[in-house]
Amino acid sequence: MRNDEKSMDEIISFAKRKGFVFPSSEIYGGVAGLYDFGPLGVELLNNIKADWWRKNVHEKENYYGLDSAIFKDPRVWEASGHTKSFSDPMAECKTCNTRIRVDKELEKLGVQADEKMSEAELQELFDTHKAQIKCPKCGGSEFTEVKAFNLLVKSNLGDFSGKEENPSYLPGEACQGIYLNFKNVVDSMHPKIPFGIAQIGKAFRNEISPRNFLFRTREFEQADTQLFIRPGENKDYYDKIKEERWRWYTESLKISEKNLRWKQHDNLVFYAKDAWDIEYDFPSYGFDEIEGIHDRSDYDLTVHSKASGIDLSYNENGEKFIPWIIESSAGLGRIFLAVLSEFYDIDEMDGKKRTVLRLPHKLAPIKVAVFPLLKNKPELVAKAREVFDMLRYEMPASFDDSGNIGKRYRRQDEIGTPYCVTVDFDSLEDNTVTVRSRDDGAQKRVPLSEIFSFVKD
Ligand code: ATP
Repeated sequence: MRNDEKSMDEIISFAKRKGFVFPSSEIYGGVAGLYDFGPLGVELLNNIKADWWRKNVHEKENYYGLDSAIFKDPRVWEASGHTKSFSDPMAECKTCNTRIRVDKELEKLGVQADEKMSEAELQELFDTHKAQIKCPKCGGSEFTEVKAFNLLVKSNLGDFSGKEENPSYLPGEACQGIYLNFKNVVDSMHPKIPFGIAQIGKAFRNEISPRNFLFRTREFEQADTQLFIRPGENKDYYDKIKEERWRWYTESLKISEKNLRWKQHDNLVFYAKDAWDIEYDFPSYGFDEIEGIHDRSDYDLTVHSKASGIDLSYNENGEKFIPWIIESSAGLGRIFLAVLSEFYDIDEMDGKKRTVLRLPHKLAPIKVAVFPLLKNKPELVAKAREVFDMLRYEMPASFDDSGNIGKRYRRQDEIGTPYCVTVDFDSLEDNTVTVRSRDDGAQKRVPLSEIFSFVKD
């Protein structure tokens, strides 16, 4: 567990107070496992997504972007195995009916439940350790039998029978859209293998116990890449993808290496060759998964070939084969939470405590704030508005003339704005302004002709 003074409760209340994240449907009491991104949250989220997209699509020669429909033919989820085996083991507290996730409760005791275990085997393991497990709500220690609970969320899209006989499923994972469009991408873009398809998409899971704020929600977004390779070349590419994904967090998002670690899966599903998670050390919660990197063999394209009757093999100079896949799948809500946790800070400036969000420039929701030195001097306000108008068409900017300068600085520091620009009486004479930096409070006089390039990064 990290050894700093941040607590997750503090970060959650900060996120709400400053317009980053709100509980969903809050005026009706909120819904467990659902959150809304507020005015600053959506900017930060979009900036994380844009950086991911740049790194995984634009900067790569052989990766193609995709945005597939959320709903899919229900047979997709049969073929992928989700209708049968996409489940978590659940038991219910006999006193207050709260549901617990049996594998996660066992994990807290240092006991690993094997993903391949049958209900009976899990029950036996649960029985062995039950005496140490308490209901998180009422503290009760009597539980129902362990049951496998399927996480897919059903809908009646296209089913007018009113009997809910033929459910459509919301995606349990976003990546299925990539497999379904493999042939379309090959036929339209003619990529040379190895090549990748990248997508950011929504996923929905009926999580038994949503918890830890954005960490375990019932609706979330995943940023996925699938690299299609020749059979048997998985070892060559797996380590490369692992290294690239690690570098995105440390070099691009500037997350400190000490707060990240690798964890290899002990229990692989039958078709997988290898699986590693990147974990982040969340304040109060400790290390947990933010992204999985999976060596998946030919499983996905094979099952969809068989179920659809469409040949999903790749033809390389007359040689046909089903490509193998290396997948990276990152949860954007969890990354958003890691970013807030990483850059939220309390320090001291000019002898006073301040809250500062030390976001890298490219992630900051607002890049620059513009102030007139005094609110009641129309000539200063007019000039500051002129500067604001110059900047806001180039980058997200804000204008603030309320309270004194010190308070305005503090407000911008809290939300991570890298630069504040103040227009004063000298500005009216010589067209220069004071630019103050968030991180160290340093101030510099800058000619207006250079302001754009100064605050750009
Ligand atoms: P976990 O073991 O925590 O349930 P998982 O191994 O099932 O996660 P994957 O299916 O590999 O997760 O999904 C890829 C990524 O999607 C995860 O690394 C995580 O960041 C994100 N993710 C998965 N489930 C959730 C959830 N309920 N809420 C938010 N993000 C999630």
